[in-house]
Amino acid sequence: MQPFICSPLLGGFVIAQRNRPGIVDITEDEYKELLHESPSEQDQTPDWLGGYLRELGYHGSLNRGTQDLLCVRQSTRHQFAKASYEIVSRCNYRCSHCYLGSERPKELRTADKILILQQIANSGALMLQLTGGEPLLSSDFVTIYLAAHELGMVVMISTNGSLLTDSRNTEVIATTPPYRVTISCYGATRQSYESLTGIAGSFQRFLAGLNWSASCKLRVRLNIILTKTNESELARMVELADERGFEHHTYRTIAPTLAGDASTQAAMVDYRDRSHKKSSTRCRAGKSFFHVDCQGNVSPCMIARSTALNLLNCESSVWDELPRLADEMLAPAKKCVNCLWKKTCQTCRPKLELHQKAGVLPTYICKKGGEESDVDCSQS
Ligand code: SF4
Ligand code: SF4
Repeated sequence: MQPFICSPLLGGFVIAQRNRPGIVDITEDEYKELLHESPSEQDQTPDWLGGYLRELGYHGSLNRGTQDLLCVRQSTRHQFAKASYEIVSRCNYRCSHCYLGSERPKELRTADKILILQQIANSGALMLQLTGGEPLLSSDFVTIYLAAHELGMVVMISTNGSLLTDSRNTEVIATTPPYRVTISCYGATRQSYESLTGIAGSFQRFLAGLNWSASCKLRVRLNIILTKTNESELARMVELADERGFEHHTYRTIAPTLAGDASTQAAMVDYRDRSHKKSSTRCRAGKSFFHVDCQGNVSPCMIARSTALNLLNCESSVWDELPRLADEMLAPAKKCVNCLWKKTCQTCRPKLELHQKAGVLPTYICKKGGEESDVDCSQS
């Protein structure tokens, strides 16, 4: 697999690395030169391209064809940058705090998943997060993972880590590493970890996944899910990341299930958002990024779900329709329009609707509370 991808991105053109941070802008003429290069011109890397690759930290030989170094993506008129794709909704854990809930739709055939990947590439998305459920549980994970690479996407994996050492996955992940593996962490001891996952032996498999990732020098981010059962182990969970040179991020809030079940909240630590600072960046859900569920439904994000646009059976152009759908789903709720808190409130309409549907409205979601229930939840 070539180490670099040359791609249109958000109206410009870039060269990105597949498994490390680093991206450079190139001109349209340079992009076209690479796109239309004839095979006879491909046995030597042009000087200008060599300069960019050195800038990105490439120390290998430039006396080789550009096709060995670069995957050049076709241009598309759509301008999305990032996507997540839930290739399977099943999981090998039984976490009671999981926002997917207990209803898990059937998995699609591999051929359909490949069609979905092709459409995602056609949206312009350069970064692709493969997620689930547990994506490594899928028997066609390796096929899907390699297909996403072949289509010229920078691939990331979101996993509980327990199947990273499964012999079906190790070779391909080690030899074609993802840009990043995000591993959820549910505790630093067997007792706390398995009381959340509900699966005996899962803590050992999680640790084996961490150690194997470190031995392969994968870029890992540990997503620490802080709950009532592991709250006292936060420092040790951070050490699990630090000892292996991994990044980490701690999550303190837990969402209700997408179906509106509030039982997930029982695991949540006592949480009060004290900052209440308005984010300086506007959410770009459905504009520059999107989510695809395991049935091929495209939504603005993992929380703002919809079945209106499906990549396997939608006649109109999903990528033309999605920004309109996002505008509808993310328009302020009625109760927010005249709210005194709206200038500093960080809660988007989909998050508000999800909590309303579950009948739980903690103050970190809505300071105004539940005195008005005029949110239209029909599109959740
Ligand atoms: S949950 Fe809300 S803020 Fe977060 S990505 Fe979705 S729409 Fe944007
Ligand atoms: S505090 Fe509640 S009502 Fe006010 S803007 Fe935020 S979510 Fe909307």
